[in-house]
Amino acid sequence: MLQELDDHMVACMKCGMCQAVCPVFAETMKEADVTRGKIALLENLAKEMVSDPEGVQEKLNKCLLCGSCGANCPSGVKIMDIFLRARCIVNSYMGLSPVKKAILRGMLTNPKLFNALLDMGSVFQGLFTTKVNDLLGSSCSKILSPIIGDRHFVGLASKSLHSRIKSLDTPAGKSGVKVAFFPGCLGDKMFTSVADACLKVFSHHGVGVYMPEGMACCGIPSLASGDRVSYDKLVKLNLDLFAKGKFDYLVTPCATCTATIKEIWPKMMGDYPFEMRKQIEELEKKTMDVNAFVVDVLGVTPAADAPKGNVKVTFHDSCHMKKSLGVTAQPRNLIRMNPKYDLVEMAECDRCCGSGGSFNLYHYDLSKQIGERKRQNIVDSGAQVVSTGCPACMLQMTDMLSQHGDRVAVKHCIEIYADSLG
Ligand code: SF4
Ligand code: SF4
Repeated sequence: MLQELDDHMVACMKCGMCQAVCPVFAETMKEADVTRGKIALLENLAKEMVSDPEGVQEKLNKCLLCGSCGANCPSGVKIMDIFLRARCIVNSYMGLSPVKKAILRGMLTNPKLFNALLDMGSVFQGLFTTKVNDLLGSSCSKILSPIIGDRHFVGLASKSLHSRIKSLDTPAGKSGVKVAFFPGCLGDKMFTSVADACLKVFSHHGVGVYMPEGMACCGIPSLASGDRVSYDKLVKLNLDLFAKGKFDYLVTPCATCTATIKEIWPKMMGDYPFEMRKQIEELEKKTMDVNAFVVDVLGVTPAADAPKGNVKVTFHDSCHMKKSLGVTAQPRNLIRMNPKYDLVEMAECDRCCGSGGSFNLYHYDLSKQIGERKRQNIVDSGAQVVSTGCPACMLQMTDMLSQHGDRVAVKHCIEIYADSLG
């Protein structure tokens, strides 16, 4: 594994171009926090891991995995590959903490148990949480503050998608197209209105839907934690379910899930059996972000003189959507399809919001600092609504806006488009 890592790292010229775009470096101004500094650390990984494993882990984890550095690297260094592989190496040396083991291997890889626990959590969450902003649907919790700090969060949906709709297998209608729909954990359990909006759009355009029962997490939380065991299990669970259905595209409303299935699964499939690798290669070609699917496959495009409404909306380019998938125009086109809205661009619309999944859990102060800049740009745009294509960014922006008491709603772009369909 170390040799493989070395092979990826030789391409780095130490030019430092990654420094200018790294949101973490912009806050800390520490060389160790930017890609070049991390690569210097990894060049001595074997030695460093023996002398200070915790230190190595801490430095590696201080990264949003946002991909801004990779998108700006003139040498095409496969930075995400390097970081994800390095986390797996360090984790296999140190082992998982009991809490991570229980969450990743005990819960996440057991979708039935995971779903049941969160469904139960949704019933009792009102006992521990207080609503703070009706427009944003955010809550906070004094009792849970030793664990979650002063976060303002979106609670679990009162009815998860899987508890309302166990599975779907409908034929292609007037579009002649059938999709496998992967709502992602946040679309299934938290932002169910996003999943409902996707299903409404599919139904409106006569798109057949395959949504099997028992879908698991896409695996990125496991891989970002360096746990190959649970990651591999999650990939296998999902592949087995997709193998049972016939569909033209695999569509998700979560840019992070889309990027994971389309880019990370193929990158990490080296040791898998031939059949699994073949299946992943086929899925890579079929997987699409829902906005790109609606615009590029279904052909939905606003007229040049489409009317503008009086609700100002601004758009945040999530890192995974822009830097990994290269999707930028399609979500904006879908927003323009709704005559109630007037799209205004915020400054630095493609700057990371600071979420970064587990980064937000371990480095909340830093995550918040980065998020503050995003929040300021949203507020300065004068928009009443901020839209994006990634539920993880929706969570982060909700937190930032809610903590300031801002009256700016957060919506997924597919919700805005679905709303225009009546
Ligand atoms: S931009 Fe690329 S080549 Fe330059 S230091 Fe960063 S990772 Fe290395
Ligand atoms: S992935 Fe993002 S946070 Fe991590 S080093 Fe690259 S630019 Fe910085």
